[in-house]
Amino acid sequence: MRIRILNKAGLLAFGVLLCILSFSTVISCKRDSATRERKTVTGYQETDYQTTDTDTSEIVPEDVEPVKYQYHWLDSEGIPPVAIVIDDFGQISGSLLQGFMELDEEITFAVLPDLPQTSFSAKQANIHGHEVILHIPMQAVDKSQNPGKNYIKTGQDKDEIKNIINAFLEQVPQAIGANNHMGSGATADYDVMLSVMKVIDKNRMFFLDSKTTPHSKAVNAAREYNVDFAARDIFLDVPDVSPATLNQKLKELEKYRGRVEPIIIISHCHNQAKLDAMRTFTTQLKGMGIKLIPLSDAVNKFKLPG
Ligand SMILES: [Zn+2]
Repeated sequence: MRIRILNKAGLLAFGVLLCILSFSTVISCKRDSATRERKTVTGYQETDYQTTDTDTSEIVPEDVEPVKYQYHWLDSEGIPPVAIVIDDFGQISGSLLQGFMELDEEITFAVLPDLPQTSFSAKQANIHGHEVILHIPMQAVDKSQNPGKNYIKTGQDKDEIKNIINAFLEQVPQAIGANNHMGSGATADYDVMLSVMKVIDKNRMFFLDSKTTPHSKAVNAAREYNVDFAARDIFLDVPDVSPATLNQKLKELEKYRGRVEPIIIISHCHNQAKLDAMRTFTTQLKGMGIKLIPLSDAVNKFKLPG
């Protein structure tokens, strides 16, 4: 009898202890989540979207650890979907190329002609479900920059431009569209872009202006031939792929809230750091509730400015 009473008392004490423990856990959880919430709100409000591309000083306060990819909005409502294009395929191979292939299917591959991995990259991208576009080498303003073995440049006539692009397309027959590689010189030349758009139109493709110069005439020329057209909004890997830069690019998406047209982001395939950055970026995007869409879907939603 005595033992039973003792057991009862022991059970009671144990129950009380459990209650106290669980109550304090609830309290501490609540406190944690409140702290997290406050941090999010503060980060959100302090963001200065007017800062330039290179000025990240206001984005990452000194007392905050820079390696941080937990940026969240209060909500992602009204943020347009995002289309991502990775430029400059044709040179990289092996496990690096394979790594890019395994990225989300919605990501588009822009393949350069005349390179050792041109044909293989385009085929593989296609097999892995990625859209493929032709990355057309074009003359830069700085003539010391070499866009490639063959490229579009000022002074070429219509037939020359047609022959060059058609020869490129034979190497990348999977291409459903095209964008410019370099091209700050050539895209600023209306006559050149008119000839380019004529070939794009004949091949029933769309054109994405990589916007390597604010003086690009690509949109004017596209309008002339009624070519489906879109323009790049953000270069992800400029000036680099540091955590601070990636965080800034995520915050930059806020600028497009309410826009009908999707956001078009271009990055490059040059090395492992850029692949890692793309993985981090897309994981973060999806975590924030932003939709990734193929480039062709994005282009369909663009309207040429009248
Ligand atoms: Zn390029």
